[in-house]
Amino acid sequence: MVSAKNIIYLDAASTCPLHPKVLSELIRIEKNYWANPSSIHNLGIQSLDVLERSRFTIANCFNVSPSQVVITSGATESSHLAIRGVANKLKPGRIVISSVEHPSVIAAAFSLQQNGWEVAKWDVDNHGLIDLNLLDELLSPPTKIVSLIWGQNEIGTIQPVSFIGKECKKRNIFFHTDATQIISQGLFDFNQLSIGSFSASAHKFRGPKGIGILIIAREYLELIDPIQGGGGQEHGLRSGTQSPSLAHGMAIALKQIPVHISINNQEINFSHTRTTILTKELSSKLSNIKGLEFIGHPFTRLPNIISVLVSSRNNIPVSGRSLVRELSNYGILVSSGSACSSNTSKPNNVLESIKVDNKMLGSSLRISLGSWLTELDLNYITMTIFNSIEKITHNY
Ligand code: PMP
Repeated sequence: MVSAKNIIYLDAASTCPLHPKVLSELIRIEKNYWANPSSIHNLGIQSLDVLERSRFTIANCFNVSPSQVVITSGATESSHLAIRGVANKLKPGRIVISSVEHPSVIAAAFSLQQNGWEVAKWDVDNHGLIDLNLLDELLSPPTKIVSLIWGQNEIGTIQPVSFIGKECKKRNIFFHTDATQIISQGLFDFNQLSIGSFSASAHKFRGPKGIGILIIAREYLELIDPIQGGGGQEHGLRSGTQSPSLAHGMAIALKQIPVHISINNQEINFSHTRTTILTKELSSKLSNIKGLEFIGHPFTRLPNIISVLVSSRNNIPVSGRSLVRELSNYGILVSSGSACSSNTSKPNNVLESIKVDNKMLGSSLRISLGSWLTELDLNYITMTIFNSIEKITHNY
């Protein structure tokens, strides 16, 4: 087994190590401000102050007001709150989601069926981009809610969220986006986007696990119902005792993201960072390995994710799971597809949607980089991937 010291962690899209500043702050806050922020004694008031300062920092990162920030347990819960919370206030209609959504959004959308909603899937092309020819059909009545994943966690493709947001706004359709994989790549101005809400998890940007956000446009604050009753915390939208330390950790992690995403019309531009440069360099080295087919959009993509389908030299599919296991013996930690679905035997809906050949559905590899990687031995990684494929397939 490789010791933790020798690990090359290339699985940022699954989760990230805490930023060192977050870890020390988590300990400090948990030691000193552990009281329930709803308690009215002095210690409770101090905890509330930490919580509300964190909310203020988070709000500033996206140029919204603190009343628009709902702190949740993570993106899964945030997307459920947005989709089910808004649907609750409306007469049943149609919800449109892309065919490459994360399972959390798929589950939230399909849960509406029991209340009489229709679910429609927005087809994508072979690169995973929604088909804009379907826009008029899908954004016409009875559509009332649209939810699109902004940066796809398995194949990296970025959807035209700014454009679709505007189109939905014109038609009075609530538009939610799952921004979970985007934020580590840069902060953005919520108001530039014409979106109803977005969800995210702190652990994807080096914050703590088990905490996330739903940011809601002002005009929807009154048009969303809580999905769980209780103490009425989080502006009455999300009951449950809040954690000042986790909220503070999330705010500190956001403050460590040094770059902004610029959005002009339909275009999204990421700043160059050490991570994006390393990803490009690694991608270029990997392109020399015969048998790797790059998937996802070639340009409109998350700049820290490389997704490939792997086959042997003689074109036989290589099991992504075996390759992940083999690479981990050499300290290289990656994923096959997404971590949340790679431990189930369900067919991969994302790869099916981009029309990957049936026989290759189990052969994907996802390499995702994060800001803790300041330098990498790209030759070692490339050589180990090459050798591992050879080793697994030498009997083929
Ligand atoms: N959406 C996307 C795009 C994700 O990658 C993930 C995590 N894999 C989630 C939602 C769910 O995040 P969490 O498990 O933290 O709720």
